[in-house]
Amino acid sequence: MINFNVPPFTGKEFDYMREAVENQKICGDGPFTKKCSEWIEEKTGTAKCLLTTSCTHATELAALLAQIKEGDEVILPSYTFVSTADAFVLRGATAVFVDIRPDTMNIDEKLIEDAITERTKAIVPVHYAGVGCEMDTIMDIAKRHGLMVVEDAAQGIMASYKGKPLGTMGDFGCFSFHETKNFSMGEGGALLIRDERYIEKAEIYREKGTDRSKYFRGQVDKYRWQDYGSSYLPSDMNAAYLYAQLELADEITQARMDRWNEYRELLTPLAEEGRIELPCIPGECEHNAHMFYIKTKDMEERSRLIDFLKKKEILSVFHYVPLHSAPAGIRYGRFHGEDRHTTKESERLLRLPLFYKLTADQTEYIADQVKAFYRQ
Ligand SMILES: *Cc1c(COP(=O)(O)O)cnc(C)c1O
Repeated sequence: MINFNVPPFTGKEFDYMREAVENQKICGDGPFTKKCSEWIEEKTGTAKCLLTTSCTHATELAALLAQIKEGDEVILPSYTFVSTADAFVLRGATAVFVDIRPDTMNIDEKLIEDAITERTKAIVPVHYAGVGCEMDTIMDIAKRHGLMVVEDAAQGIMASYKGKPLGTMGDFGCFSFHETKNFSMGEGGALLIRDERYIEKAEIYREKGTDRSKYFRGQVDKYRWQDYGSSYLPSDMNAAYLYAQLELADEITQARMDRWNEYRELLTPLAEEGRIELPCIPGECEHNAHMFYIKTKDMEERSRLIDFLKKKEILSVFHYVPLHSAPAGIRYGRFHGEDRHTTKESERLLRLPLFYKLTADQTEYIADQVKAFYRQ
């Protein structure tokens, strides 16, 4: 059976986790957490990276830092993971969903401005499949209306828009290191902070409302309760697992990119015949091969293809059920404008297996079986 995902593992993880145990530092903000944050800061050029227990928690931190309150509104796509909305809903905000672009599955930047009201506080673009949103337009809208931008870059590490790393253009950027992402620590994430003025507050929110981060750096002689907050820092053992992969980030990305390009090449004939559609990568975007998807004619054809592939020992999966049609989405959100693409495109999209150790032979076998389905 070819699984849809196999969590990334390079071989060094056990050595580093053992080292974390031998360091006698398995709580948060130990040596491996520092290594991971510094690696991300250097790689992305962001002012500050704080490792978190998940991308969900990174987004919650961003919502706290953006001072999101009861009655505020945030603008985001409906085609996304629950956390993009939930982190803001938890603070009392209403999720205002706008339609996506069918080419990239990202928020349609041309529809954002019309959804802005006097209650709007933030725009939350999601870089689906590690392909950047139209950030110049989004940042321009935010600037003109005085809104914050929180990038859900859960899938976006190592990818860029006009040469700028995803997660570094908005006020805050959020990465995920869940086991389904390009690099993983089991559960984990990171908050990227562009403006240094937010760093101190972010450290306090992340450390149960205390200035323990300052204390650890020797900047204060005791730490105290300073503000509200929660516990958003991961164990150094998890960071040790992640660091093994960050060290090999280029190699992991290249392996994924090779498989991604093979899929595209092998499936192009089917796309040219109009049987399926392939992902679109706009010229401004450099992606990270996070995901390879195809689009079938409709949901019915997709279900038949999933069953067909399962019989050939291949696990393929669809993705988000649009948030605005989910029970909590109805309660805590509203769709602004017309749902022209969100539901329709979400029902056609199918993700094929893609992970670090997937082989070229397996990729070819999978592509052959997709072709066999359409040729039967
Ligand atoms: C994976 C993912 C998340 C959530 O990440 P966690 O680390 O599991 O909290 C949020 N948004 C998007 C777009 C994701 O793909």
